[in-house]
Amino acid sequence: MTTQTLAYWTQEAATLKPEGRAYIDGEYSDALSGETFESRSPIDNRLLANVAACNAADADRAVVAARTAFDGGEWSQLPPAKRKSVLLRFAELIKAHGDELALLDTLDMGKPIGDSTSVDIPATVRSIQWSAEAIDKLYDEIAPTAHDELGLVTREPVGVVAAIVPWNFPMIMASWKIGPALAMGNSVILKPSEKSPLSAIRLAALATEAGIPKGVFNVLPGFGHTVGKALALHMDVDTLVFTGSTGVAKQLMVYSGESNLKRIWSEAGGKSPNVVFADAPDLDAAAAAAAEGICFNQGEVCTAGSRLLVEASIADEFMEKVRAAIATWKPGNPLDPATNVGAIVDEAQLQRVQSYIAAGHEGGARLTAGGERLNAVDGGFFVEPTVFEDVTADMRIAQEEIFGPVLSVIRFNDEDEALRIANDSVYGLAAAVWTANLSRAHRFAKGLRAGSIWVNQWDAGDMTAPFGGYKQSGNGRDKSLHAFDKYSEIKATWIKL
Ligand code: NAD
Repeated sequence: MTTQTLAYWTQEAATLKPEGRAYIDGEYSDALSGETFESRSPIDNRLLANVAACNAADADRAVVAARTAFDGGEWSQLPPAKRKSVLLRFAELIKAHGDELALLDTLDMGKPIGDSTSVDIPATVRSIQWSAEAIDKLYDEIAPTAHDELGLVTREPVGVVAAIVPWNFPMIMASWKIGPALAMGNSVILKPSEKSPLSAIRLAALATEAGIPKGVFNVLPGFGHTVGKALALHMDVDTLVFTGSTGVAKQLMVYSGESNLKRIWSEAGGKSPNVVFADAPDLDAAAAAAAEGICFNQGEVCTAGSRLLVEASIADEFMEKVRAAIATWKPGNPLDPATNVGAIVDEAQLQRVQSYIAAGHEGGARLTAGGERLNAVDGGFFVEPTVFEDVTADMRIAQEEIFGPVLSVIRFNDEDEALRIANDSVYGLAAAVWTANLSRAHRFAKGLRAGSIWVNQWDAGDMTAPFGGYKQSGNGRDKSLHAFDKYSEIKATWIKL
């Protein structure tokens, strides 16, 4: 946790001059068109930088640079142990510039500075370190062939990887992609969200400083429908890894089919159920986790516990605890280290959240906390953590991803009903179950159709376990050794003996 003060961060923010240019072939560069877009802070709408609005011509430049670097072999053919050392240096540089990078993300997308410094920076550093450390410990295979054959099963880098990422955890989401992609020896083009491009642009220069050769790591800021689409349609991008909404994930698969059948790996949306049985071992802990699950990062979390399913027999008592816990999450100035709820990323997202609050009222749910826009800082986009009770599984606020601090509470009467409601979603990213009954915990965890299951806790995880979704929450997995599958081709070589 940072020890700095609001005054310190306010002063740092006033003097920061973020870089807004793209990073292609080892240097900063304007978009070829010369076009820029304004990056404004959701904290107070201040202008942070004019950012290069890259388009298809810039995508071409970056792909040529990435391909040339890949074919040159300076990185792709470097021994894994050497790539490891460079990436570990990259991680150290991120740590050393942690305050600056944390401030860029807080200013750019509104998350509390305390989270940027204590969550985003350590997780980004750890992610790069973990992939780096893994790469010289991955062995290939020898197939169990007949005695006069030698069958080698080897992993090779896929080539040029485009990574398109969202704004909610700008650096962590990027690091889950670029860590294993670079460690495998690929060349990477990172397209950050237009809502949070600044930290990615800064990371590019740190990568070069660490020793990543030019052309191997490029950053193209710009809009999804221009440069994102151009990368997805590009004939010389081998793999596209994506984190973002399910709608865009579907579109990317269409682009792949319309172009070169590039592999598309998506981490998409969620509507995660948090299921509390009457026999939960600690209802206070469950209530605190329910509050954190919807308030952390302003609810702008793919795994937000946005559906709280509570056994009817304890619902009144339990919801009192939840409301008390939620009252401790208060929107405030994101530059204040004491703030635990920051600004919503922009006005459009704020309006989306407000439209779902209206939908909750219209659908007949009962508002029991929050529901209003706040003016925590003049000109900023803040909303109260909001709770709707008496929600039924068919309501829009129970089905659609809101991506804001709005909790939908649904009551259930028995285990079968709880599981049916929990799985009644097009999404399947994460889920939790709270119970002291060991058999039920296992049974329920098995029945849940989601990629991450938490028992008697919310949001556990680190680099050692895979992360990703069932159903329309995506395909493939980030983190752990499974992540390397996305960045490798598997080759079978048959040698006659
Ligand atoms: P988004 O889908 O709108 O945008 C994500 C990225 O895709 C951005 O960089 C955007 O510019 C780009 N993009 C948009 N349209 C495009 C197009 N036509 N072609 C190519 N690129 C395009 O999502 P968002 O609003 O940035 O992020 C919120 C979403 O991300 C939520 O649905 C959330 O659940 C999801 N998310 C998922 C995970 C996960 O690991 N599963 C993690 C974080 C966020």
